[in-house]
Amino acid sequence: MTRRFIPDLTEEQIADKQLEGLKWTVGHVFEGSPFYRSQLEQAGVAPDDVKSLDDLQKLPFTTAEDLKDGYPMPLLSVPEADVVRIHGSSGTTGKRKILAYTQNDIDLWRDMFARCYEMAGLTVEDRVQICVGYGLWTAGAGFQLGCERFGAMALPVGPGLLEIQLQMLTDLKSTCLCSTSSMALLMGEEVHKHGLTDKIALKRAIFGSETHTPKMRRQFEESLGLEHSFDIIGMTELYGPGTGLECEAHDGIHYWADLYIVEIIDPVTLEPVAPGEQGEMVVTSLQKEASPLIRYRTHDLTRLIPGRCACGVTMPRIDKIAGRSDDMFIFRGVNIYPGQIGSVLERFDDLSAEYQISLTRREGLDHMTVRVERSPDGSSDHDESLAKAVATDIRKHILVRSEVKVVAPGTLPRSFAKTKRVQDERGEE
Ligand code: ZN
Repeated sequence: MTRRFIPDLTEEQIADKQLEGLKWTVGHVFEGSPFYRSQLEQAGVAPDDVKSLDDLQKLPFTTAEDLKDGYPMPLLSVPEADVVRIHGSSGTTGKRKILAYTQNDIDLWRDMFARCYEMAGLTVEDRVQICVGYGLWTAGAGFQLGCERFGAMALPVGPGLLEIQLQMLTDLKSTCLCSTSSMALLMGEEVHKHGLTDKIALKRAIFGSETHTPKMRRQFEESLGLEHSFDIIGMTELYGPGTGLECEAHDGIHYWADLYIVEIIDPVTLEPVAPGEQGEMVVTSLQKEASPLIRYRTHDLTRLIPGRCACGVTMPRIDKIAGRSDDMFIFRGVNIYPGQIGSVLERFDDLSAEYQISLTRREGLDHMTVRVERSPDGSSDHDESLAKAVATDIRKHILVRSEVKVVAPGTLPRSFAKTKRVQDERGEE
């Protein structure tokens, strides 16, 4: 099958492109970036030392700290006059991360994103409602650039603005929704509430930027009447969203391995994990000019999926992002990722996908309360036995005691962006 945007490369051809890109990148940053030059010199590596892909292991890691230290234009490897744009991340604490782009960087990002729309099975006839943040954030700009490059119609609504969202869905008959999974859930609820199910024309959704459970996904796929939904990956440090997308086989996310290298490491030992095992994703860009990345630690947890995909695309795959290594919390000596709680809840058909974990400390002892919403068609009669069953399962699978409360649908706070699953109030005893 010929595709307009996704290249059909063999494993060898991808490896050749990776080696060529790695050599170029190391030479480029050595010449252009005092930060990278000093990093490489400290590691005792010169650009000529990169002769094979195995030599990647010799290169030093780059971290979010390095980006902060280099504020406001970290990792800059070209003259400022060559920078045509900057984007920034939300940055939870302190200074935000700001990354610079040359025109070539923007063009490449646009082409990568066009690959995503192609992967999602869209055509130029599609109408793409973009419900993500515009401005400093990369999300809006990425979805927009890619849509125009691909040739579909962009409806740039931005996040929130529910009334306008519903108006666009019904009047302009958007066929593809782009949003966070929380926003897609909320839109599904609103469409239902206003009786608009038969008046909208959505077929597909591209969603991302936060971890989701299969249950959340089924919920918004059903309420919006979707044929398919696709998980998208991306981060400001590596252009933005659009660096990979799930395909119609729904068995992992294809990433653009001709444009960046993915390594999976153990976040503690920093050594590569065994093939197929979960660990922290580390990325190295291959053509990025303004702010290249060399072994950048993303803190995203995932694994490489071995083998070829049934869809026929040869680009390799990673699993959906299972969480962030820094989202982990420690409860009574046990390391827990919020997604583990989500996976337990997944097994109960009478529960919805919305949940919240709160951690408190009383008399020196930590307590965990998990609040989860009953499914919209469930009855409150079984709340107590359901809560008990969930607590038992959490104990069995995660080895901790928790108090579970089943609450009415719509009780827990909703968010347009990323829903905060964990409230840690243990410092406020
Ligand atoms: Zn595939």
